[in-house]
Amino acid sequence: MSVRVVARIRPLLKQELDKDTIVTADPPTSTDPKAKPSLIRIPNPKKESESFSFQFSSVYEQNSTQQELFDTEIAPTVKHLFNGFDLSIFAHGCTGTGKTHTMRGGKSLADRGVIPRLLSAIYRRCKKVEKDTAGETQVEVTLEYFEIYCDRVYDLFEPPEKRTASGLPIRDNNGKTIVVGLKEKPCATLKEFEQIYDQANVNRSTSATKLNAHSSRSHAILCVKVTQTTETTIQVSRASCIDLAGSEDNRRTDNNKERMVESNAINSSLFALANCVDAINSKKSRIPYRESKMTRILSLGQNSGLTVMILNLAPTRAYHLDTISSLNFASRTKKIETCEIENDPMLRNIAKPLGAIAGSNITRQPLR
Ligand code: ADP
Ligand code: MG
Repeated sequence: MSVRVVARIRPLLKQELDKDTIVTADPPTSTDPKAKPSLIRIPNPKKESESFSFQFSSVYEQNSTQQELFDTEIAPTVKHLFNGFDLSIFAHGCTGTGKTHTMRGGKSLADRGVIPRLLSAIYRRCKKVEKDTAGETQVEVTLEYFEIYCDRVYDLFEPPEKRTASGLPIRDNNGKTIVVGLKEKPCATLKEFEQIYDQANVNRSTSATKLNAHSSRSHAILCVKVTQTTETTIQVSRASCIDLAGSEDNRRTDNNKERMVESNAINSSLFALANCVDAINSKKSRIPYRESKMTRILSLGQNSGLTVMILNLAPTRAYHLDTISSLNFASRTKKIETCEIENDPMLRNIAKPLGAIAGSNITRQPLR
């Protein structure tokens, strides 16, 4: 059981082309031509002569493609799903950094995100399993799609007008947390998936903030259940794809009272998620997954599944402080290195402690 944390820097948008790029990746240290960068570098907002560096499993730079990310990070996990292990894929980051682009993506084939690509890979594997077992193993794919908004669970397969204010109740059932009344839709083909998924996305609740006119304030969770049945056995595994709510610091967005309630719910669930990721990666025996509805419903860390966390980052200065706090979230599982860039960018010294940054929990490591 482990969590792979990767970072993805989105390209500059049309309206940002004249802006500075402040989030960069250090070139990989390995000479292998296929090696990816693993270190993100960003200036210290309090002292531009210093930069912070954050270690990831891999870093996807501005020009990385949807296909590259999927083929490297997600495609290899599909066989584990069919071997009975659960899979969780999170897109984390501030609003406007590319979470929905990464998970859902655009309409063209090249632009398709992780979710449609995963479904496509799952259907391909279903055919292979059925063929390899000469039809002895039957595979069924079903979907659940819900969002968690202000700590309440809403079914995205239901139109918004059917929602009750309190959302769907959750209940423990034989040690598993279930959402009572959640629709589970059988879905046998990619085409059918696209129709169901597009319709459900229309239902996803969005509301405006100063940062983004349609900022997403909810976590959207798509669960793909794969059931493999033979005459004598049934094996169920799940792939959960989570487009998290924006992690920006809401104190800086002129929030009204309603927005503050939203942002408190978002922050506490992201905090609970960070604690789980931290506990899993430091091999703690107790994973605090009960601390939020999201981690509880996902039973995060309770089965020997795989988790991939994609930290989406915007490259420009407008996101500087939010990017630092996103990196701090992800870095809880990673070593962090700090260095000082003086006039000569090759000359790197150990920087001053990071205590100057509010809320920072960074521990300093010398560059290796
Ligand atoms: P979020 O879901 O984190 O709020 P979005 O996915 O909506 O962010 O991305 C914000 C904007 O950036 C969108 O216009 C999106 O199309 C664009 N974008 C994000 N990532 C990429 C990328 N890798 N390549 C091209 N455009 C991107
Ligand atoms: Mg989004």
